[in-house]
Amino acid sequence: MHHRRRREFVARQAPRSLGAALTAAALFALGVVDAGCAAAPDADPWRGPREALVNDLVARGLRDRATILAMRQVPRHEFVPPEVAPYAYEDRALPIGQRQTISQPWIVAVMTEAIRPRSGLRVLEIGTGSGYQAAVLAAAGCEVRTIELLPELADSARARLARLGYASVEVRQGDGWKGWPEAAPFEAIVVTAAPDRVPEALLEQLAPGGRLVVPIGPEGGVQQLRLYAKDARGRVDWTVITEVLFVPMRGGSEERRAAPGGERL
Ligand code: SAH
Repeated sequence: MHHRRRREFVARQAPRSLGAALTAAALFALGVVDAGCAAAPDADPWRGPREALVNDLVARGLRDRATILAMRQVPRHEFVPPEVAPYAYEDRALPIGQRQTISQPWIVAVMTEAIRPRSGLRVLEIGTGSGYQAAVLAAAGCEVRTIELLPELADSARARLARLGYASVEVRQGDGWKGWPEAAPFEAIVVTAAPDRVPEALLEQLAPGGRLVVPIGPEGGVQQLRLYAKDARGRVDWTVITEVLFVPMRGGSEERRAAPGGERL
């Protein structure tokens, strides 16, 4: 079962015959296959491991088509330091410097699927890190803005995303607790660092009908990956998707501790 699925993907994505190559070229011309996918597929030694990883995610329950296509396209090995690149297509978090990590692919997939990505969806990400989650959202068609607290990571992610062709992603250095008011409202918000409670500014900047996915909980402890949904009248409800382990969301929470009751919205 698993094998059959893998072979189908290989047949579609890594054409070996001229006929298949022409089909791929035609699909590319029609816009069915993205440039990242169609450019010299046989020259990419990471394609096999990436396909295998995504097949495993599908076997594990990943269903959303846009998310699956995006995860098949984005070269995760380009988002990690060279010394851990050999592990890029294993389902695990990896260090990206500055004591931060790139999330496990399964969690990236779950978070992406949770916001129901689609073409033109206006998304805000908090915690750019390597830029991988932002690239996955962009590959799924979303219009992405992303905020990173640490200047070094914001700069390197911006450069990486531009180099890899995710030119539409806007990276800002700043404190995600405040959101991105000038670009609000957002149809979806993805928070990839764990705050101790949901940042009010983010709930405010969520459009009616919007979805916000965020890990809530203490550093190093059990965190709940929550999905907040705002209905058409602005009422907010949340559910728990799963338990996760994210690096903490810094900034605003510390400000708040320093000035009790003084949280700025
Ligand atoms: N989404 C990233 C991984 C996120 S790791 C990726 O795909 O690689 C969490 C990131 O959140 C870290 O880079 C950390 O510096 C950042 N972060 C922590 N607190 C933040 C805050 N208040 N605002 C913005 N970014 C924050």
